Amino acid sequence: MKCALVTGGSRGIGRAVCYKLALMGYYVLVNYKSNETEALHTLSTIKENGGDGEIIRFDVAEKEDIRAVLGTWIETNTEKYIEVLVNNAGIKDDTLMMWMKDEQWDSVLKTSLDGFFYVTQMVLNGMLVKKYGRIINVVSLSGLKGLPGQVNYSAAKAGVIGATKALAQEIARRGVTVNAVAPGFIKTDMTEGLDEKELKSMIPIKRFGTAEEVAHAVGFLASPEASYITAEVLSVNGGLYS
Ligand code: NAP
Repeated sequence: MKCALVTGGSRGIGRAVCYKLALMGYYVLVNYKSNETEALHTLSTIKENGGDGEIIRFDVAEKEDIRAVLGTWIETNTEKYIEVLVNNAGIKDDTLMMWMKDEQWDSVLKTSLDGFFYVTQMVLNGMLVKKYGRIINVVSLSGLKGLPGQVNYSAAKAGVIGATKALAQEIARRGVTVNAVAPGFIKTDMTEGLDEKELKSMIPIKRFGTAEEVAHAVGFLASPEASYITAEVLSVNGGLYS
């Protein structure tokens, strides 16, 4: 059975990606950190629409948690194979660098960058054995451009972009593609406190994007037809920056 693992699938962009991949026929593993109710909501919507999957709780910032939970899942579900991995889980904790606490730096880096490393390493072997796989990392405009107040977040996302390009070249001939999607301002819990009225005037399309618009880009890169696209970063930002 072909599976897709989406980290941070309980809310926002990750949830929309789960729906998209379920419609593409994947059995979806909906990962979450603490919000089981929302993860179950994602799963029940998948099922209502004729898809299937399960929820799986682990903290992408904790390598032991990933190894214990995801590692055990892979070992015990030998008939299932994770063909698509979407490293989507991420947090922000903004402040100017001069005020940034160690913990703000560590938590943001651990979630995006360490999360990418430890989750991908766990899933990669199966893809290499099957000689097919799609890895899509959800990064950010901040990782391309750098944004003030987001030294931690920009560094984490830029790190994942570099890792995306490096890994893509390591495994391209094994049929596994590695790409990134870089959203601009997307309407989710993460952007809840932002002044949309003011910010949208800077965006050529004049609005925030939707999680579904990002999910569409992820679905494209996850499709078998995207087989000659790897080491790429696809911006979904309404023309804000390229
Ligand atoms: P969101 O609405 O805040 O949702 C975050 C998701 O990540 C939740 O499902 C959350 O799980 C999960 N998560 C957070 N920390 C985790 C951890 N340590 N382990 C496992 N899961 C964890 O965020 P979003 O806006 O959808 O963002 C999704 C991704 O897009 C992030 O990587 C973000 O950096 C990126 N992005 C977002 C925007 C934007 O404008 N929204 C722009 C550029 C990039 P729980 O529900 O259990 O907390």
